[in-house]
Amino acid sequence: MGPATQLVAGGRRAEWTQGIVNPPVWRASTVLFDSVAAMRAASARPNDGLYYGRRGTPTQWALADALTALEPGAEGTMLYPSGVSAVAGALLSVLKSGDELLMVDSAYEPTRAFCRTVLTPMGVTTRFYDPTVGAGIADLIGDRTAAILMESPGSLTFEVQDVPAICAVARARGVATVLDNTWATPLLFRAIEKGVDLTVLACTKYIVGHSDAMLGSVTAAPGRFGGLRDLVHAYGIHVAPDDAYLGSRGLRTLAVRMRQHEAGGLAVARWLADQPQVARVVHPALPGCPGHALWARDFSGASGLFGFVLAGGDDAARTALIDGLVHFGIGYSWGGYESLAIPVDPAALRTATRWTADGPMVRLHIGLEDPADLIADLAAGLQRYARAR
Ligand SMILES: *Cc1c(COP(=O)(O)O)cnc(C)c1O
Repeated sequence: MGPATQLVAGGRRAEWTQGIVNPPVWRASTVLFDSVAAMRAASARPNDGLYYGRRGTPTQWALADALTALEPGAEGTMLYPSGVSAVAGALLSVLKSGDELLMVDSAYEPTRAFCRTVLTPMGVTTRFYDPTVGAGIADLIGDRTAAILMESPGSLTFEVQDVPAICAVARARGVATVLDNTWATPLLFRAIEKGVDLTVLACTKYIVGHSDAMLGSVTAAPGRFGGLRDLVHAYGIHVAPDDAYLGSRGLRTLAVRMRQHEAGGLAVARWLADQPQVARVVHPALPGCPGHALWARDFSGASGLFGFVLAGGDDAARTALIDGLVHFGIGYSWGGYESLAIPVDPAALRTATRWTADGPMVRLHIGLEDPADLIADLAAGLQRYARAR
């Protein structure tokens, strides 16, 4: 089955849908049984026993099942109420007091914050590493290293990591690997096949795809799923069936949306690269992006999120560009059908590496609009920026 067919078929088991095309919303806390024996039988099923709302209903299982099917070789998927919660769940399933975590220096800022707020007080130390380290990660692994967190491409700066090389080293040394695969989704980067142990999605972004629900997931390689699931059960983590439904609904159109995000994103990125007011476009599919060759080797496409650096100027000039945009919203998150533009300042977040630029940076999410309208909007924005400089 090809990935687009998989997106259509995933999670639609007859006993869950009862013939309805979309796995419907099953709301539940209490589930009633005909007998004690029936109650015991349902409770004995670890993944799909319908016996209490906290353990999920077919609505959540359908989404988890569909996400697992997108990662050939995976054992299973757990759902979380947000992407941040999914990152936390993955890390806590492989770390204990006394361990060291290696974390990429281009990680999403709330992922870094999790180390300060939760891991440090519980006795786990975090060492940040260069996103371009590749197989050189071997030199950083010590006796206490228990896990490596990757995010590829990196948040804000888009460095593509050598995930297969890092995973090969990690597996040989018995170190667990966690990848934040939100930018690519399993459609463009099959993480488990590439050697990742736990692959994380902020489903809030492209899986939901319509900017109207928060959701996260972790898909596990064989041997890593049981620990992940036990922790979800122990913490009582639960995703509302309505939100899981929106995730499943979004998933069905992921392949067509991603093609459009890619095409629109590339059209805008290539146009920006030719503008005199733009110093640099940072897009994994363009040669100037660190790790571009790895993107070409490992990914089957690009999504719609990238950045560009202005040719000098200050925050006020950048603000003049962004504030007057008509087709780009100003707001956090991304992955919906609508375009977004925000100012980003990655240099201040780094601790292991330096990130330098000739001017202020803007991050764009290219939605499903006509690229010509977005380009005209940005052209007017670059004029405002030039006047404000
Ligand atoms: C948005 C995002 C997250 C967090 O997802 P939420 O659903 O907002 O909690 C994690 N990782 C990356 C790369 C993200 O962009």
